[in-house]
Amino acid sequence: MRVLVVEDDADFASGVIAALEQDGYACDTIPDAAGARLMLECEHFNLIVLDIGLADGCGVELLRWQRGRPPSGRTPDDVPVVVVSARDTVEDRLAALDSGCDDYLVKPIDKRELTARIRTVLRRAEGRGTSDIVVGSMIIDTLRRTVRFGDINVELSSREFALLRVLAARPGSVLSKGQLENALYSASGEVESNAIEVHIHNLRKKLGERVIRTLRGAGYALRIDS
Ligand code: CA
Repeated sequence: MRVLVVEDDADFASGVIAALEQDGYACDTIPDAAGARLMLECEHFNLIVLDIGLADGCGVELLRWQRGRPPSGRTPDDVPVVVVSARDTVEDRLAALDSGCDDYLVKPIDKRELTARIRTVLRRAEGRGTSDIVVGSMIIDTLRRTVRFGDINVELSSREFALLRVLAARPGSVLSKGQLENALYSASGEVESNAIEVHIHNLRKKLGERVIRTLRGAGYALRIDS
């Protein structure tokens, strides 16, 4: 899952990123609104962590722009947004919530609360009531980051888990290799050209050949009845 952290306080941003990476998210950070617009136009993110007081403008304006622009395949306008700001008046919160943010946290924050709020927002965005994603006889626990397949607990590496998590968010849908790379690796991260194939191969070894379908030239899909 890709997260964009829009934050002009570099130290705060690295703390947030360290906490999110520990939870398996691939993160990018940008300190200003203009750069954030560019990134959001070019890349797909699963969630945005947004500061309000940015050097070149107001985070709420960026939020309104994000919510107002027409959705397209690569850049949907309904990407969940969690605001993390030092501004703590009710007016600040109302302005952000009414402009479409999904949650609002006031600095200083406990990183555990931020990651819990992010899980909740993503769960809501995916239409789930609990932290478990259930696909056929497979239960993916997004809180403990464990997978149970039938009666067996399956050990996955963090990348394998991240890949399964992305496929399971839209079971049955075909995701291209590019979409999977985009979901797993930050823009600054090095990606081996065959990384996705290797992780798919390993997932099949651990979960069985039929769990993930390959659609030649199109991509991969998790079987709904896996
Ligand atoms: Ca700031």
